Amino acid sequence: SVLATLRGISKTFANGTLAVDGLDLDIADGEFLTFLGPSGCGKSTALRMLAGLMPPTSGTIGWTGGARPQVGFVFQEPTLMPWASVFDNVWLPLRLRHIPRRDAARSIDEALDLVGLGAFAKVYPRELSGGMKMRVSIARALVTRPPLLLLDEPFAALDEITRFKLNDDLLALKTELGTTVGFVTHSVFESVYLSTRIAVFSPRPGRIVAGIDIPEPLPRN
Ligand code: ADP
Ligand code: ADP
Repeated sequence: SVLATLRGISKTFANGTLAVDGLDLDIADGEFLTFLGPSGCGKSTALRMLAGLMPPTSGTIGWTGGARPQVGFVFQEPTLMPWASVFDNVWLPLRLRHIPRRDAARSIDEALDLVGLGAFAKVYPRELSGGMKMRVSIARALVTRPPLLLLDEPFAALDEITRFKLNDDLLALKTELGTTVGFVTHSVFESVYLSTRIAVFSPRPGRIVAGIDIPEPLPRN
């Protein structure tokens, strides 16, 4: 079934840049959709509008169920609070919902287990590698168990091996949680490896020029 329906979505920034130009897109429940295209083609802007982080200049986004579901968002930088432990960083989205630390503990532990960092709750971000920081960032995005997880070039700054491992673990997570995923990348490899569908953006202005279905997930072992 359809989760979101984007119709004629455009974004012009205050400086006059037309970043996204008339996007039409349906997002299916449970799919892993990547936005693929070169830098500056409007992928990130499209993802942010989908997340509700910025409004479109024109066009509409319709949601099955009437309103945007809870969204977990992962930025290119892990954006962790350096003064807070891993545990407290993952607590943040629940804290913002006024859930006390003690009541949040179980969800936080589960989220950390999901990303393989169950043993690192008490550690501070400065003690973690880049890949681990990104895992914390993913745990933080998942701690509320959002039906929609959006990631904006999350692994772009990581070395190739770490990146490969994180790709694999993200796929496993998605399968386990059944979350719908939107993923921005300029990597053809990532888009093919991860997705059930690729939305290919043209360089300028931000437009989707092709939708590629990948019917079978690649075999994994
Ligand atoms: P991508 O994610 O594909 O790299 P972006 O969505 O980040 O592309 O950017 C699309 C275009 O919009 C680029 O030309 C970029 O410079 C411009 N842009 C992005 N954010 C802003 C902003 N806040 N103000 C003005 N221009 C912006
Ligand atoms: P603790 O981690 O000790 O339980 P908090 O999580 O409430 O306490 O905050 C830890 C420290 O980080 C406090 O000094 C608080 O003022 C600061 N802090 C919390 N949120 C922010 C924020 N969004 N921006 C800047 N400082 C913050």
